[in-house]
Amino acid sequence: MLLRATFRLPPDLLLTQARPFFLESCGLPAAWAGQARWRVLDIGFGQGLHFLLIWQAWKADPQRPRLLHFVSTEGAPLAATELLRAATKYPELLPLAVQLCEQWQGLLPGVHRLAFEDGQVLLTLGIGDTQALLKESSIEADSVYLGSFSPQGDPGIWDQHTLKALARYCRRGTRLASGSVAPSLIDGLSQCGFEVNKMPGTAPQLDHLQACFNPHWEPKKAAEPNKPKPHSPKRCVVIGAGLAGAACAASLAKRGWQVTLLDAHEAAAGGASALPVGMLAPHTSPDDSQLSRLSRSGLRATWQFARTHLRVNVDWQANGILQRRFDGSGGLPCHWPESGDHWSRLAGADEIRAIQTAAGAAQQSASNTEVPPLWHAAGGWIKPQRLVRALLATPGVTAQYGVKVASLRRTSVAGPECIWQVVDTTGDCLAEAELVVLAAGFESAGLTPHVGLWRARLALQPIRGQVAWGAVTDATAMPPFPVNGHGSFIPAFMGEDGKTHWLMGATFQRDCNDSKTQGTDQQHIFERLQRLLPGTAETLITTFDDGRAQAWAGVRCVSADRLPLVGPLDDAALPGVYVCTALGSRGLSFAVLCGELLAAWLHAEPLPIEKRLAQSLLASRHRFSE
Ligand SMILES: Cc1cc2nc3c(=O)[nH]c(=O)nc-3n(C[C@H](O)[C@H](O)[C@H](O)COP(=O)(O)OP(=O)(O)OC[C@H]3O[C@@H](n4cnc5c(N)ncnc54)[C@H](O)[C@@H]3O)c2cc1C
Repeated sequence: MLLRATFRLPPDLLLTQARPFFLESCGLPAAWAGQARWRVLDIGFGQGLHFLLIWQAWKADPQRPRLLHFVSTEGAPLAATELLRAATKYPELLPLAVQLCEQWQGLLPGVHRLAFEDGQVLLTLGIGDTQALLKESSIEADSVYLGSFSPQGDPGIWDQHTLKALARYCRRGTRLASGSVAPSLIDGLSQCGFEVNKMPGTAPQLDHLQACFNPHWEPKKAAEPNKPKPHSPKRCVVIGAGLAGAACAASLAKRGWQVTLLDAHEAAAGGASALPVGMLAPHTSPDDSQLSRLSRSGLRATWQFARTHLRVNVDWQANGILQRRFDGSGGLPCHWPESGDHWSRLAGADEIRAIQTAAGAAQQSASNTEVPPLWHAAGGWIKPQRLVRALLATPGVTAQYGVKVASLRRTSVAGPECIWQVVDTTGDCLAEAELVVLAAGFESAGLTPHVGLWRARLALQPIRGQVAWGAVTDATAMPPFPVNGHGSFIPAFMGEDGKTHWLMGATFQRDCNDSKTQGTDQQHIFERLQRLLPGTAETLITTFDDGRAQAWAGVRCVSADRLPLVGPLDDAALPGVYVCTALGSRGLSFAVLCGELLAAWLHAEPLPIEKRLAQSLLASRHRFSE
């Protein structure tokens, strides 16, 4: 069922009149003053004016909470142009509406996280059926807004079942407002434990409804066996200064944790994240698998961060990627809407012609089992080291390099929390904290603490890989965009020497934890390039032959199901030990999202992805007893 339950502003309502209507009905901004975070649940995003108003009030308030979460549902999202048109009536909101529209794309059914104000204003948008989305949500709301439609016209929306579901997301004292004063809504809310008041409107304001969740009974929370226990910010040690560690450090520091980051290398991004440049492309599958959905959410999170912290065309670029499909894999989901704003589609004639002419791919496409290539409009490349450095620049993060952690030691139990000591091979304490995040790639397995009878390890696999790269000498033989599908080729990025370079990756050597480069791998990489882009390979043959093609190798870390591990290791036995690893071959897509997911679990915040998907990434799924 598609719903449009918008808490609409009456058309002639001035902003000065609308503001109290929206804010005061939920006791804002006074209620959020000095709070660490505020979580708003809004049913019916509509034109987004409500979100813009709350965002603007947050910006203007010196007592604002550190984080503002706005969780909203929408059955059929409007086009960005329609959002802008609605906001033009309110010039004060227009600059915010422009920012919203910049991120307003790829809103397929499911959960999307849009981030503003350097990640302090987080919009979690659920597209689809409200009841189903409420089930998939994980929020304890501080304020709730309901749409102002008429229950007579659309009785299914506020049936008792939905209102009960809504009440489950409220704490005692959560305030609710609605533009609808329908008696059935008032009765329904009262039965669910709300104290309800009908507020008369003074023209042009309409009557509206205010309510406060204060049931006569003790509300029961549904048991969620896998849900991590919430923490409040204290000290945290993150082990590993690669993409995973840097992203977790940034997300935790943003929430007030004092983060100490430790790494065995002499500088940040010394492990797999030292890759010169890497590719980001959404994964596609006919059943829109977990990996496919996660890859899109991850891409969105990485590009959001890159847009505000890195230099476009120097550190990153997202102009699209072409994926060849020699083995026929990577089909598009058949349930995707035919028209609209897609992440991925069949490549068009221009894109196919571009690789045929520049890279001599014509003879290949006519042969064998290759099916039409895909075009990933949001694909691109990014430099991992720049991304890591930008994440580590978050205030509140302190890094120490050249320190190898040997193990964790529990020193004391303070209430439900432990203090963990991070020790070196001689047993000396390097740092201590209430929270430790293992983000040491494959080495995370060996750092799993053994406490009392708890004897388990993370099940991780190392996969060594090598890439080749060099200076571009003949740009005419390069495709105009990156191409993947049999290895991946990035035709032009600016190297540290200021020259334009190409990069071709990568080899896969399972169960190998050795990051030394190998001459034989260069040959394998060249053979992959010959299949992927024969014309380009032709012009690079001498570069490979005479050793001008440089080599870089690193070790990926994967889990058995190829999905990241994010969350507590064992909340009961090892309180305060979290994991973020197994980013596999997609660390650039996953890291920023996984950092936010880890922080969301820790603080009982709205999750940035569907709850079921987040649960399937929990680190506890892949440990085995020794
Ligand atoms: C050849 C190759 C090509 C790739 N191409 C792409 C690509 O195109 N796109 C993409 O998205 N991803 C790509 N990847 C994957 C990506 O590089 C990884 O997913 C990502 O870098 C993993 O980040 P991480 O932080 O988990 O691990 P790492 O970057 O390896 O960081 C782990 C850190 O932990 C530290 N550490 C380990 N043990 C200890 C200890 N005991 N004490 C202290 N510190 C410790 C290490 O020094 C290291 O710095 C590629 C990987 C390889 C190898």
